[in-house]
Amino acid sequence: MSQGRYAELNLGQHVGDDNADVRRNRTLLAESLQVSADRVAAIDAAHGNKTVVVDQGGTFGQVDALITREQDLGLLALGADCATVALADPVARVIGAVHSGWRGVAADVVSVAVREMESQGAQPERMTAVIGPAICPGCYEVSEEVRNEVAGSVAAAAAETRIGTPAVDLQTGIAAQLREVGVMRYFTDPTCTYESERLFSYRRDGETGRHGMLIALAGDST
Ligand SMILES: [Zn+2]
Repeated sequence: MSQGRYAELNLGQHVGDDNADVRRNRTLLAESLQVSADRVAAIDAAHGNKTVVVDQGGTFGQVDALITREQDLGLLALGADCATVALADPVARVIGAVHSGWRGVAADVVSVAVREMESQGAQPERMTAVIGPAICPGCYEVSEEVRNEVAGSVAAAAAETRIGTPAVDLQTGIAAQLREVGVMRYFTDPTCTYESERLFSYRRDGETGRHGMLIALAGDST
């Protein structure tokens, strides 16, 4: 529904888009997973590693990971260069959604989320993870200081841009963090947000929308 720089499926509130359009976009997304719009719990990212277990919809501020055991409750992580991650243990029926940019990788938010899922009965060896699109290392120039900070948490995230300047590889870093906590089954969407016109990129466009990753536990009958 969104127009202009927010076209088309902007899911982010408080980014300058029309709120009614954002609500309609979120409803379209929720209904695509057969979840009702008021049963979506959305992360309002703090760029840290705070993880919260939820049992109802709403916006959860200052949080970077949401976990639930509730059926038909969608968990929504948003991004516009930052990576989103969906996690599921289909046996324990525990799911999680994570937002992780460079600060999230430095704070190892994905491991914190996996551990919290374990406390809810999940087991890493049964989990599947999906790492959503993010800005690729070739495009993601950062300061040497930022690269060092991220590499201090996970060495695999240290990278170079196409022109040889310091960069962060969010997806490779997150994959290494998942393996470290025993999640060996993960899939990565290699699309670069900066290079793809289909996705939002804060680095490319500044004031822009947010795409997202939504995960929900289906009912037993579906
Ligand atoms: Zn790129």
